[in-house]
Amino acid sequence: MGARGLEGKVALVTGGSRGIGRAIAERFSRDGATVAVAYARDETAAYEVVERIRKNGGQAFALRAELGRHGDAASLWAAFDAQIGEHAPDGSVDIIVNNAGIGRSSDLASLTEEQFDEVFAVNVRAPFFIVQEGLKRLRDGGRIINISSGAARLAMPEIIAYGATKGALDTFTLNLAKELGPRGITANSVAPGVIDTDVNASWLRGNPEAEAHAASLSALGRVGQPEDVADIVAFLASDDARWVTGRVIDATGGSCL
Ligand code: NAD
Repeated sequence: MGARGLEGKVALVTGGSRGIGRAIAERFSRDGATVAVAYARDETAAYEVVERIRKNGGQAFALRAELGRHGDAASLWAAFDAQIGEHAPDGSVDIIVNNAGIGRSSDLASLTEEQFDEVFAVNVRAPFFIVQEGLKRLRDGGRIINISSGAARLAMPEIIAYGATKGALDTFTLNLAKELGPRGITANSVAPGVIDTDVNASWLRGNPEAEAHAASLSALGRVGQPEDVADIVAFLASDDARWVTGRVIDATGGSCL
């Protein structure tokens, strides 16, 4: 990766306060981008990310954006518009990363309509309308990167609705690539396997047996770290990836599932 390949770019990362989103925000900033760190409720964590970036000489700002309901995408961009002027006077964005997501464990038999609606609202509805509303600000030649999951292409009935949301996200990505290609905008999904973040903490951390099992799911024999995903996202955001679009890029360490 060339040093500071995102100099002068502006990136929006949803769910940038922790886990994979935080690693993406920090990596983008090291590459020279100004990063808008969108968060839902974890304000302290989001401001810590922004502080750390600034201490390291980067530019970032936090914006509160609870996602999933009607109008949330418009509110997110209004919050972006209110702050971007300090960093980029024309108010545009170069990279949109739809990373915020939730998982709900349930097989079909026990799935409730509320669980279904909630997981689709955050994982599918929000990216759709964030991109639709963001297109007014996204520069030609820009990048859209959607954080999907290996679960989109595996039979995992215990998380049946979650897997379906990520399948929908991947199809959205494919269509974005086609619709926005004439503007030089690329759209790709990145599909992680098991990554050591808070969502997996309850069963993974401090449980050597579970960790060994999770590690065995990857050809490389270890559990993925947020930075493993962030580095792939940084490549897709860079000019080096200008000829990659409409793809789902595996971030599983070679899934053996
Ligand atoms: P995480 O729970 O650590 O972080 C999720 C982020 O999304 C947080 O910043 C949270 O504030 C934000 N978020 C959640 N609900 C939101 C809402 N309603 N509105 C706005 N923001 C909201 O999870 P993570 O592991 O870092 O996951 C990030 C992405 O990666 C998700 O889309 C997830 O589905 C995907 N993913 C994770 C794994 C894994 O093993 N961790 C595997 C495959 C895919």
